[in-house]
Amino acid sequence: MEQIFDGLGVSGGIGFGIAHIRESGVCEINEYCIPTDHIDDELTRLENALEKSRNQLSKLRQKANQLPPAAAEELGFLLDAHLHMLKGSRLVRGVNQHIRDYKINAEAALQHVLDEISEGFKALDDAYIASRQSDVHQVAARVMRNLCEEPHQPFNDLPDNSVIIAEELTPADTALMNPKTVAGFTTVLGGPESHTAIMARALGLPAVLGAAGVIGAINTGDSVIIDGDAGRVIVNPSDKTRRFYQRRAIENEEKNKRLAYLKDREALTSDGVKVTLKANMELPVEIDNIINNGAEGVGLLRSEFMYMNRDSLPDEHVQYKIFKELLERLDGKPLTVRTLDIGGDKTAKSLIEDFGNSICSPLGMRGIRLSLNRPDILETQYRALLRAGQHGPVKILLPMVTSINDVRQARLFLQQVADKMRKEGMDIPDPLPPLGAMIEVPGAALSADALARVCDFFAIGSNDLTMYTLATDRADEQVAHLFDPLHPAVLRLIQFTTQAALRNNIPVSLCGEMAGNPRFTALLLGLGIRDLSMSASNIPKIKQRILEMAEQSAVQRANIIMDQTDSGRIAMLLDDFSDRGGF
Ligand code: PEP
Ligand code: MG
Repeated sequence: MEQIFDGLGVSGGIGFGIAHIRESGVCEINEYCIPTDHIDDELTRLENALEKSRNQLSKLRQKANQLPPAAAEELGFLLDAHLHMLKGSRLVRGVNQHIRDYKINAEAALQHVLDEISEGFKALDDAYIASRQSDVHQVAARVMRNLCEEPHQPFNDLPDNSVIIAEELTPADTALMNPKTVAGFTTVLGGPESHTAIMARALGLPAVLGAAGVIGAINTGDSVIIDGDAGRVIVNPSDKTRRFYQRRAIENEEKNKRLAYLKDREALTSDGVKVTLKANMELPVEIDNIINNGAEGVGLLRSEFMYMNRDSLPDEHVQYKIFKELLERLDGKPLTVRTLDIGGDKTAKSLIEDFGNSICSPLGMRGIRLSLNRPDILETQYRALLRAGQHGPVKILLPMVTSINDVRQARLFLQQVADKMRKEGMDIPDPLPPLGAMIEVPGAALSADALARVCDFFAIGSNDLTMYTLATDRADEQVAHLFDPLHPAVLRLIQFTTQAALRNNIPVSLCGEMAGNPRFTALLLGLGIRDLSMSASNIPKIKQRILEMAEQSAVQRANIIMDQTDSGRIAMLLDDFSDRGGF
């Protein structure tokens, strides 16, 4: 029977396929001895995995409340039982005891205790006991996954047209999806501007995040439609529904084809103002799409994706090769590489050991702070970039800048690395590539005048700027309705930053998700931004929007908007302007 689940449509398009439930908790377990003086560390490691599991279950519990009452009650009961088990059951006590008594690692201890419990259950032939056994296994699998910190399973052996159904997917997981075999995905957890959502858009995969109830209700092999525009997942669709979505998919394709003719056209407003449209990039495979959509360069390469899904850090040669190949493909157009921005929802195994939980906190050791703390990592990136700079115009962008000191230190270090390379006899660009700052923290935006004096350019990161200004996690679907880039505070910071850049004669662009949404184009132009960087597939529709609008009218409308105090009224004024064609 057809079933419908609603969530957040974070990546548009229609995906048809067969459900593939992404199993959690499958990882290889090795047993090894723990020296006596490290037993406490091992117990802490177990406690951290338990805590993480409890947090995950609490989030799922919240989500369950959004389901129809009967389903909410049943799922809630099950999740409560799982949570309870993590608070001091025989399973948890047993694992603690095994680590102490046998001095073995937590994964092996967990496996032993699970085997013992299962053995006990086997002796009893009872349906209730059998379901309890399945609960224990599910809870143990979750803890095991968190212990192994190995959540990613490559999606490389999937049949064509697979639709991934998962509790949660990290950006690193998503980066492993091959759009040739994956038709789309849906998760229970995840927010609209999370990097998982951004990755889905980059790969052109229809995606619905935050869809309560999809786990448990969908089975591997079910037929599924992902409506990434409306944020809807349809399971086992009726013939009528299927026909409706087939028509929608054809219409979408025709719309995209119609826009393709714009590829080589300049983005000029009807009154002749030029806007530069560049692409954001996460994975090197995106370069064809970037070129085919007529991007005027890469305005943001999120280099952190080179650090994900690998056990060690990428060395200078690996990075140099990637940058060089991209520059050759860009054929004279600029490549703006952001130095490592690991942190928040983007993590890399090779760095977690060094920095622990701080790296996962949006307020912790992330972005430029991490790079300045680990000059070896920054030096490798600088060296790769300076070598690549011989093959085309490179710009270096620093993430999560909060003070002029961040930029001063990063610039001094760039100069030192360059001097060393010259002494080694290497050819590097002279002058050195421009060094710019992401403006994505309110403190940086408010210091924009001072920062403009030490930066060669600004790139406004409206995603983090919105998150930090409104104290709203961009990756949390429960506060998605509060993540509002039209909040007057966010707009004032964008305006202030743009004016500071213009006053100080440095270029300013905006590369957050606002740049790729035609709804915001008039406002951004009206605020003085003339350089936008976005997911490549959005370039044609933004260009079309620019071609049909007059810059003067956009400025007038932005002036009216900036006098408002309420984001609802701002949205109305903006949408009304767009509906009238931007005049
Ligand atoms: C931003 O914060 O707006 C941005 C462009 O960077 P990221 O989305 O990678 O955090
Ligand atoms: Mg950011």
